[in-house]
Amino acid sequence: MKVSFKNKRENKMNTVGVVGAGRMGSGIAQVMAQTGYDVILFDISNDTLQVALENIKRHLQKGVEVGTIKKEQLQNVLTRIHPTTKLKHFITADIVFEAVVEDIDVKRKIFKELDDRCPHSTILATNTSSLSVTKIASATENPYRVIGTHFFNPPYVLKLVEVVRAQHTSEEVIENVVNFLKGIGHTPIVVKDSPGFIVNRISRHFYLEPLRAYEIGLAGIEEIDSAFKFFGLEMGPFEVIDYVGVDVNYIVSRSIYERFNYEERFRPVYFQAQLVDAGFLGRKTNGGFYEYIGGGKKVREFLKRGKISYKFGKKFLNLADRICSKLRVQSDSLSNEQKIVVALTFSMIINEAYNALMEGLASEDDINLAFRLVRFPAGPFELASQIGLRNLVSFLNLAMDEFLSERYRPSLLLVKKAI
Ligand code: NAD
Repeated sequence: MKVSFKNKRENKMNTVGVVGAGRMGSGIAQVMAQTGYDVILFDISNDTLQVALENIKRHLQKGVEVGTIKKEQLQNVLTRIHPTTKLKHFITADIVFEAVVEDIDVKRKIFKELDDRCPHSTILATNTSSLSVTKIASATENPYRVIGTHFFNPPYVLKLVEVVRAQHTSEEVIENVVNFLKGIGHTPIVVKDSPGFIVNRISRHFYLEPLRAYEIGLAGIEEIDSAFKFFGLEMGPFEVIDYVGVDVNYIVSRSIYERFNYEERFRPVYFQAQLVDAGFLGRKTNGGFYEYIGGGKKVREFLKRGKISYKFGKKFLNLADRICSKLRVQSDSLSNEQKIVVALTFSMIINEAYNALMEGLASEDDINLAFRLVRFPAGPFELASQIGLRNLVSFLNLAMDEFLSERYRPSLLLVKKAI
């Protein structure tokens, strides 16, 4: 469907609406206000809006301290943000970014309301991490103007935005959003509407493999986190989950698992749900996998458990060791179990990248770029050539036997490329 814009807008947007003033919504509002846009920031709760404004001010003050923002700019940026609890104020917005809770019913309701209230020229964008943008768009009468813009946390630091082309999104809307995002200094990568898009889908294995290794008693939480530090990562998987939010990470895993028709390789673990039920949501509340005391942290008591001593085949252990050394992990300092977790995690990340490429989600270059922009040490295909495709296929085939599990089945494209 062709979109007829009221004002031909190639980058002539003036006012941005943001729905949801939580972690992401407030971050997006800050980015927009810092780049000169007037921002209407909506939330159902007045208290949340006040907290959001305080957080934005605190971030800006930090910017002043480190010299990235001029002192006189700070007040200007803040005055550009207009908090509201009434969606009717969005009538003047040229583009609206929705960042409310990851719940399809809540998001569909909001898009229906935005579609009814906003002029036809307003672009409606969702920041969903894992839901179907097409399903959100189908709640509206004008799905051609609905698009996914998946920012990363925090949006004022990480420049990647996955621009999600839903079934009905018009080319004009995609072009406008891409230009708009480039204009604010971000890097848009256009991807197909699919579960978890590129980064959340492929990086799922960064969490799921360590969670699985802990679940079967192969290695402990600290042991696993420390193994990844040898690869040059600042945080291990459990530390990242605590930082992002145990609940946020779990909801995304759950949603991707469901949307992939319960494929074993995406299966979440029940003890993560228990942490959520208990209110251990990570650094934001009472800790998560770790308890944070003073400046230090320790693994939560009920997650401490004995390890099981598994016997593995020599060939499998040798390949785990080879993969770690190809990844330039200082493998001499790691136990066999740590090497297995690291090797499985990276092999599964690369395997998923081949699946995503096979399904035409994005190009090899864009997938590599996306991972570098979220501060992964290298793109998945770059890691694949470091390790060698044949090593990867052999390791995954052996892992299927060692763990009696389909989850490690190599991607068809990976196998064919390895021949
Ligand atoms: P959050 O819980 O911090 O914020 C959600 C906000 O939505 C809250 O302020 C809440 O009051 C508000 N809200 C709830 N129902 C609402 C309604 N009906 N109308 C208006 N506001 C409502 O969540 P978040 O981490 O900012 O995530 C928001 C979205 O961004 C989700 O879709 C999430 O998947 C996505 N996302 C999150 C991250 C992350 O790392 N946290 C990264 C990328 C994308």
